[in-house]
Amino acid sequence: MELAAALVDGQLDTLRLFDDGTRYLVCLERTYDPNVKWSDFNHRFDSDSLPCAEPKLLDDAGSRLYLQQAGASAALEALEARLREGHHQLMTLRVEPRLGMRLAIFVHNSTLGRGNGMHALRAGGLRLHHPNADEQEVFADGCNLARAMSYKNAAADLPMGGCKMTLQSSPIPLDDGPRLGFLARCIESARILTGPDMGFTPEHVDALRAQYTLQCTGGNLGPLGPTGIPTAFGVFLAIREAARHTFGSPELTGRTVAVQGLGFVGRPLAEHLATAGAKLVVADIDERAVTRLRELVPNATVVAPEQVLTTPCDVLAPCARGGQLDEATIDRLQCKMVFGAANNPLKASTQQGEINLARRLAKRGILFQIDWLHNTAGVMSGFEEYLRGSEATQEHLRPRLERVCKDGTAEVLRTAAARGITPTEYAYEKIETRLFPRDRTHRNA
Ligand code: NAD
Repeated sequence: MELAAALVDGQLDTLRLFDDGTRYLVCLERTYDPNVKWSDFNHRFDSDSLPCAEPKLLDDAGSRLYLQQAGASAALEALEARLREGHHQLMTLRVEPRLGMRLAIFVHNSTLGRGNGMHALRAGGLRLHHPNADEQEVFADGCNLARAMSYKNAAADLPMGGCKMTLQSSPIPLDDGPRLGFLARCIESARILTGPDMGFTPEHVDALRAQYTLQCTGGNLGPLGPTGIPTAFGVFLAIREAARHTFGSPELTGRTVAVQGLGFVGRPLAEHLATAGAKLVVADIDERAVTRLRELVPNATVVAPEQVLTTPCDVLAPCARGGQLDEATIDRLQCKMVFGAANNPLKASTQQGEINLARRLAKRGILFQIDWLHNTAGVMSGFEEYLRGSEATQEHLRPRLERVCKDGTAEVLRTAAARGITPTEYAYEKIETRLFPRDRTHRNA
């Protein structure tokens, strides 16, 4: 039995897992009434309210017993194993069966968020999944993305821990007050700053900010606009540094770049590359995205989605869903470097798994650095908005963006080469001690 279903069966709505330093404590709760009007969130009640006539809270033993009797122990154990493997700090699952929503918040690490003087301690986007997707697969995606966010925020020098939200739901209409209100309550209760990821758009951010919560950034109406644009620019700068490292010049004129995915990031990245004189090979599973790109870059060569990863090119830029580069795919790549925007492009759910795949790429002579070093400008942009509100400007963002995506990439590639290790290993080594100042081996128990 899935955990979400077990909650609903017991008229419960929240499952929390906390790392107490030695193990995960489980806590099941009922925190709202079935008739609560979510569209009233931040109008008639807020995240400190308990809109519930009969609240309930089960302690660790009671929660485990309940889940066992509900037939969900295996699901709980699988989730705990995943959290332990990634050294995650917290996880909260909230269900709203009337609205068909299951929202999971994965908090990987809050070290850098403590003491930042703000309400949000951690930052990470919200990704939409199909309502009937396998719960454990969604958890795996959320765990991996949250882990990457801790490193991404640290690499970007932001005073924020790392987290990610996954939402299993049908797409949310922009005028759907109950769904937006429920989302806003989940965001504010978790003390996170969130923004768009796949399926959760800048338009959703605008709708949330207009009525329900200001703890999300990256909308079209925000001072810095959608995050895909700075993200694409940061990736472009990193590709230039990778070209400098490999070819001796950052110039991309005449270089072939294959872009997989032409969405909020892939499209502006393709435009930068075309302007820089690169030859583009592009693919998207959505015909409309391809057509739109062809309108902007008429001479881009379009290939089938299943061909783009293995197309012969100088640079492969994955800008769609992550997890596509496994051992077999790596062995078939025909590029000189992999530098894209996709979060977690390697099919691995642990740091060691990623390092193994990074070494495999290096063995094939393909230059690669872990994505969170250079696809960071979106979160930097979100943070600028959060910090400065309507005063945020591109001039504020630009120096940090260049320092991290351009200079940071150059330094990582140079140092890793000098030490004879992969850029991914060096990057982890560099950030690790900031996130885990104390020994964390007990969590492997
Ligand atoms: P998006 O949903 O706007 O675009 C993704 C595009 O990829 C869509 O057009 C989709 O049709 C296409 N696609 C999906 N599967 C594909 C496949 N197998 N082959 C080819 N095309 C495929 O998302 P986005 O905001 O552009 O994000 C793209 C990637 O970059 C994601 O991994 C995201 O997590 C990551 N990322 C985004 C940001 C940001 O600011 N938006 C920041 C950092 C990382």
